[in-house]
Amino acid sequence: MQRACFAKTPPACTHDALARAHTYLGMHMTNPGPAKIPATLIPGDGVGPEITESVVAILDALGSPFAWDVQEGGNAAVAKVGDPLPPPLLDSIRRTRLALKGPLTTPVGGGFRSVNVRLREEFKLYANVRPARTIIPGGRYDDIDIVLIRENLEGLYVGFEHYIPIDGDPHAAAISSGVNTRAGSRRIAEYAFDYAVRKGRKKVTIVHKANVLKALTGIFLDTARDVAKRYEGRVAHDDRIVDACAMQLVLNPWQFDMIVTTNLFGDILSDEIAGLVGGLGMAPGGNIGEGAAIFEAVHGSAPDIAGKGIANPTALLLAAAMMLDHVGKTGEADRMRDAINRALNEDNVRTGDLGGKATTKEYTQAILRRLA
Ligand code: NAD
Repeated sequence: MQRACFAKTPPACTHDALARAHTYLGMHMTNPGPAKIPATLIPGDGVGPEITESVVAILDALGSPFAWDVQEGGNAAVAKVGDPLPPPLLDSIRRTRLALKGPLTTPVGGGFRSVNVRLREEFKLYANVRPARTIIPGGRYDDIDIVLIRENLEGLYVGFEHYIPIDGDPHAAAISSGVNTRAGSRRIAEYAFDYAVRKGRKKVTIVHKANVLKALTGIFLDTARDVAKRYEGRVAHDDRIVDACAMQLVLNPWQFDMIVTTNLFGDILSDEIAGLVGGLGMAPGGNIGEGAAIFEAVHGSAPDIAGKGIANPTALLLAAAMMLDHVGKTGEADRMRDAINRALNEDNVRTGDLGGKATTKEYTQAILRRLA
């Protein structure tokens, strides 16, 4: 397993990291920085390694506060050790409690449970934070600024599924059970309202389907409403049925400030919201829990463009900016967001998904120039 930048050897590692970043711009070495925060880096599958390389170079140019422990997961780990989440990866996150993760492919067949769901369960990452903000003006929607908070451990993602055989057909019927608990609903609602207070947001919309799934999402709605009462006067709230919310997001997304919702609805609505700000290449996410915090792009491994050097690294970059915020390095996070903004809007350097022609490397170099 490749390991980089252990906290025990900061001078050499810092030096290496800076050298890598400067190779992008053909610059020479500067002084090593201060002590680093141990963090796990999982390049992941498909476009993962390409976008991770870009993110590490940009973080290094900012004087990255992270000492990376690089770990393999997903397909690469299946090929080597037969497990997409091998023990060294899990041990690393147990130690660092902080990770930046490229997309991981869950192998189809072979009885593998979703790699991402396993990671969330392992580290009790109950809050999935997905902010979406317009960076490139002039698209279908301008001035979007919505934060979706998704419950990450319960609902229909608990994996209680089975088939019922009928008349010799072993898969004649499929059954899936969802579980939402009072405690889990309270925890995510409190997270959402606390986040609103912390970040100065105005309103939280509770999204549910309690008109049909009366028990499963009724408990979520009732509990979240109770929590909302405790924040009255500080954070406004309302609620929406998920289908109406999906339509309203297309018709008038500006009415939404924050959304808190259950696992499956959050998964779907956050992709829809990503579409309002330019697509999956622009959507970051953080998985926050008591055991750890793992930051990632909302998108998957994009196998259709993997290896072509054209993937948009912005989503993972914005996830890295969230990670910088998380460790209190808000100045570095703001500098990164500003450099992304300038590269996209002033230099007009954009990857194909945003209508441009730049490769991942050319776009990375444009951001690095803005940081130089
Ligand atoms: P995907 O997000 O990988 O791709 C959907 C579309 O968006 C594709 O056309 C792709 O080319 C495009 N796209 C995605 N990221 C892009 C980027 N950075 N730049 C430019 N275009 C980009 O979704 P999928 O194809 O349904 O899933 C592929 C694999 O990823 C599956 O195995 C799935 O399980 C996995 N996945 C992982 C995660 C994760 O690790 N968090 C999330 C979603 C899907």
